[in-house]
Amino acid sequence: MVKTMQSMWLVAPNAIESKEVPIYDLEPDEVLIKVAYCGICPWDLRAYLGKKKVPLPRILGHEIAGTVVEVGQKVRDLAIGQRVVGDFIVKCGYCDNCREDRSNLCTNPTYLPGGFAEYAKCPRKNIHLIRSQGTSMKAAAFTEPLATVYRGQCKLHLKPGETELVVGAGPIGQMHAQVARYFGAKVIVADLLQERLDLALELGADAVIRSSSGLDLAKAVKEVNQGKGADAAVVAVQSAPLVVETAKALAVGGRLNIFAGIYPVDPLIIDPNLIHYQELTILGSADSTGNEFHQALNFIETGRVKVEKLISHLLPLEKLQEGLDIVAAYQGMKVMMEVGGENQ
Ligand SMILES: [Zn+2]
Ligand SMILES: [Zn+2]
Repeated sequence: MVKTMQSMWLVAPNAIESKEVPIYDLEPDEVLIKVAYCGICPWDLRAYLGKKKVPLPRILGHEIAGTVVEVGQKVRDLAIGQRVVGDFIVKCGYCDNCREDRSNLCTNPTYLPGGFAEYAKCPRKNIHLIRSQGTSMKAAAFTEPLATVYRGQCKLHLKPGETELVVGAGPIGQMHAQVARYFGAKVIVADLLQERLDLALELGADAVIRSSSGLDLAKAVKEVNQGKGADAAVVAVQSAPLVVETAKALAVGGRLNIFAGIYPVDPLIIDPNLIHYQELTILGSADSTGNEFHQALNFIETGRVKVEKLISHLLPLEKLQEGLDIVAAYQGMKVMMEVGGENQ
């Protein structure tokens, strides 16, 4: 008799269907994971809303932590019951980007069926072992988004004692703030919502700025930074005008990472002389490499980046559509699906 699992499928934009389907057969190099938790990512939301075209039907969800339940014949170093996270975007390994240490931008990636199901499988090379017993599965499920954050921070080349401005204090912004502090920066966090700023302070931010539509961000940064602009900044909000306001809040030689994709596309209207005379660097970063995935899990396991407090909603698998609607309405922080749970 074939064993089956519950799985949630995106069948059309805005339509999720629950299906009982056979559990995967494994290739020799693959690992079957019983999903404990799977976070909802903005990428999932864009696919759900039809803003990002993906082949349908499919099981979304790539922020997965779980336990090993079966391994392929060639996998010799993992045991049943071990706790793991998986990178569910498999890079080809041979395109120019993969060979030039930019596998995050692999041109032939495979997006595996995701974690909004009781089980998921992926190749051994994409599995990372959770080594610390003290790390919860919920926390480990942040590895993928934290890997993208870590990449973004590395690209800003922070020096100890510099100031970084983080615009947007959602789950991503909160992780940026913590990694920037780890690199020795003084961190200023800006957001519209006071409760998010309170959380940023609790998680170690040095100063916060309550944004509003008419706020002069450059002036507000100087007020909390001894008259100076920020040496580095991350915009973790989908807003082109905010990117421009943030650039104006930089000090001479400042670097700005446009971290959020902006949909629909909205051009930046910026004075080129600001970039020229202030020697600013405007850059971007997207996704992560296997190395960054590894580092992100280290950050979580050592407690250097605290993530559990970023969870606002834990929902059972069958409530995926509700979870996506919560993310779409910008209510709360990280919405996570509790599939098998912590002690599955
Ligand atoms: Zn993600
Ligand atoms: Zn590639």
